[in-house]
Amino acid sequence: MAALVGAVETDSRLQDLNIEAPLNLGNETVLDALSRGGVAIAYSVMSTQAQRVYEEVRRVRQRFGSDVCLIGGGAHASIRPRELLDNGFDYVIVGEGEESFPELLVSLLENGDPNSIAGVVTRESTDIPRPKDLPVVDLDRCPPFALKRNLVGPVEVTRGCPFSCKFCSTPFLTGGRVHHRSVDNIVTWLERAVTERGFERTWFLSPNALSYGGRGRDVNPGKIEGLLRRTTAIEGLKEVFFGSFPSEVRPEFVTDEVLEIMRSYVANRTLQIGLQSSSNRVLKLINRHHTVEDGMNAIRIALDAGFIPHVDMIFGLPGETIEERHASIELCYTLAEMGAKTHGHVFMPLPGSEFEHMPPGRLDDESRRLLGELSRRKLMTGSWSSQEAMGEKLVS
Ligand code: SF4
Repeated sequence: MAALVGAVETDSRLQDLNIEAPLNLGNETVLDALSRGGVAIAYSVMSTQAQRVYEEVRRVRQRFGSDVCLIGGGAHASIRPRELLDNGFDYVIVGEGEESFPELLVSLLENGDPNSIAGVVTRESTDIPRPKDLPVVDLDRCPPFALKRNLVGPVEVTRGCPFSCKFCSTPFLTGGRVHHRSVDNIVTWLERAVTERGFERTWFLSPNALSYGGRGRDVNPGKIEGLLRRTTAIEGLKEVFFGSFPSEVRPEFVTDEVLEIMRSYVANRTLQIGLQSSSNRVLKLINRHHTVEDGMNAIRIALDAGFIPHVDMIFGLPGETIEERHASIELCYTLAEMGAKTHGHVFMPLPGSEFEHMPPGRLDDESRRLLGELSRRKLMTGSWSSQEAMGEKLVS
């Protein structure tokens, strides 16, 4: 949302637009806006939030009818645009929104033809684009956040991933294309954030932080060093977080050299590593393209470099046997003894992923007991119970 509002507030054609980003959308807010002019309500929809958003849209439609225009974007919109239209949206934006969203707003203000904008889908659309068929947005032309309205979030330094893990929607959403925000651009925006908004710290967002600057399949230590050296030198910016939550790193990208570089710059003492399973057979089934040994190697390198590895694990993956699940949980206990922590997930069949039609993960009683014990000892975090419920909802 911060990046999209940033794209709108820096568009010279939209300077008269009054933008609000309320945490809750009450009728009063809409009535107040309607008293001042036309109103568009825009939602960024994730699959796990879709039902809640549809309920709100029904409420808005019942109260305000066609007086308001409803625009949907985000991951779920890009995967199921027709579903959003069927649930009351007027316009859906498929794929990256930094260019198409402002274009749509301009078109609405000027009575243009929204159907002519690449990525915009309406009830009249006959062809529904897939994100990979649309032009790639140049991140350097878009602000990472909305400084004028002080709507800020992590700086997305990399978008896209060339891997195809079967539980993940990112390959569908980005078509395997990887693009980065340049160091110059990141520095420019962070300097402004420090001066204009008193920023003291920042988080970099990436599906695989150690892929920064390359094509996504290998580590480029020089580029990572350049990014960290320049950003940590910004006067007034006290802390830069890189490779920690909400980002992650793939295990085979972790090397002594790159962690040595990171250590001298970053504020985080944790490194988020995606391992997912203790079984090479399961890793192969989910198309991870790394082994358990790669994961263990990364964890040891991280510990040696002084980072606390936070290791992501997924239980209940399609094809995983109960013995393999128990072995994965057993590994979490071993990791805890080594000094690492784990972040446990239950498999959810996410729309857009290869596994979207697979049954959701279900924990057996023994797994639940063992995970509960790790959680009580503060060695594991995660929301496996709500993910089990959410997995069932996604299927239904
Ligand atoms: S899980 Fe990570 S590495 Fe795998 S496809 Fe998704 S973003 Fe890429």
